[in-house]
Amino acid sequence: MEEKMEDNNVHGSDGEDTKKEQEEYEKFCYVCRRSEQVTGPMISMPGSMNLCHDCMQKAFDSVTQGGFDLSKIPNMPYMNLNLNDLGKLNSQDFDIPKKQKIKKRSDKEAKPEISLKDIPAPHVIRQKLDEYVIGQEQAKKVISVAVYNHYKRVYLTEKGLTDEEGNVQIEKSNILMIGPTGSGKTYLVKTLAKLLDVPLAIADATSLTEAGYIGDDIESVVSKLLSAAGNDVDKAERGIIFIDEIDKIAKKKSTSSRDVSGESVQQELLKLLEGSTVEVPVGSNQKNALTPMTSVRTDNILFICGGAFPDLEDIIKERLKEKSSMGFSAELKDRYEKDSNILFQVTNEDLRKFGMIPEFLGRLPISVTLESLNKDLLIRVLKEPKNAILKQYKKLLELDEVQLVFEEEALEWIAEEAMKKKTGARALRAIIENFMLDIMYEIPKDPSIGSVVITRAYLDKKGGPFIQMRS
Ligand code: ADP
Repeated sequence: MEEKMEDNNVHGSDGEDTKKEQEEYEKFCYVCRRSEQVTGPMISMPGSMNLCHDCMQKAFDSVTQGGFDLSKIPNMPYMNLNLNDLGKLNSQDFDIPKKQKIKKRSDKEAKPEISLKDIPAPHVIRQKLDEYVIGQEQAKKVISVAVYNHYKRVYLTEKGLTDEEGNVQIEKSNILMIGPTGSGKTYLVKTLAKLLDVPLAIADATSLTEAGYIGDDIESVVSKLLSAAGNDVDKAERGIIFIDEIDKIAKKKSTSSRDVSGESVQQELLKLLEGSTVEVPVGSNQKNALTPMTSVRTDNILFICGGAFPDLEDIIKERLKEKSSMGFSAELKDRYEKDSNILFQVTNEDLRKFGMIPEFLGRLPISVTLESLNKDLLIRVLKEPKNAILKQYKKLLELDEVQLVFEEEALEWIAEEAMKKKTGARALRAIIENFMLDIMYEIPKDPSIGSVVITRAYLDKKGGPFIQMRS
């Protein structure tokens, strides 16, 4: 008992000593090292740590004015920060998101008007698309007209010439694009946005989920468009949103659990597709208290939804066969089986069977089908587009003053290999890069080489390329 009391005494006097020490010694700011005499009263923290008011304020400012984004917490730069470094918080070493500026024009500054002359006519759009996209003739034609009408509608609505009373309401021409992988869906949309000079956002439907579930909210697609438009709301409101892999949000067959990434996503997309005002975060695809928000109207945004719809062919064949079995044509049935472009015969009924809800299909009034690229088309993809892969390689070797030639049979070999991979034109680049690596490595070694001919034998590994020296 006595021992214990002694112990307590000892501790008691120790505590007083530290307190005394603290009162005796001047306090120094833990961050800027200035004394209390210079900085004024300090804020004391546990562990004998003192901070002056200036440094405390600086720390708060860096966090709040820097547009601190809670979504970045996993990489939060402050986590490993030594307080001595607080002064550097705004330096580039720390990835503090800068506050995003939203371009909103003042009332005096008029929104740039769209004029009818600015909207390219369908044949002009088509010609431009032809320079880049091979085949897909029907799709290019339908899209050219749809886009022309879309921007005419934008013109009319912005002029206030379509209203409920009296004037004609023009329906929104959102597009559904059906076509196998590598047939040029994304490429077509990208080319379109470039030639129209409008911002484009490409989103993947597989990452979208119903609000409140893990995954991206539906509004994130508009947020992407806003950042593609450089945070210019007016520009974004006339842009294009391409939602890829739309077939992945088909209604799930089993309904035992809640379908948060299928039917619900289709439901939530409805309001965007037909036109509504959405609140979106600026400079981030997640909403939180510290990200600035702005509202964007989707009425004049052109939505294009694309997908490969893998089992759709079977659904169409089934329907066609049923129809023909009412007659007696076994020959017809056989033809359906072999037809590689059966997707062209798609109807809304087939898409509904596939799992798209009628309301969703109703908001995509224009539907186009892209053909799967056959050998001839693949060869043309290699040679003809303005930025064709072969042209790019030729240009590169031209700089070494070497002429690069591809034998027609060699091109056939490349197309045949690509067909085996079943990923359309996507496979071409990888195949070419594979053998061009050696050529691009070896040729510059010998300055006397004047031309190289890529032969089928070389690709088949039965011979070498045909090389000619400069004369
Ligand atoms: P998907 O239909 O799967 O969206 P992509 O548009 O992404 O296919 O095509 C991949 C690449 O293949 C494009 O970047 C483009 O270079 C090329 N490509 C595909 N289709 C065509 C086409 N019809 N004409 C020219 N190039 C094409």
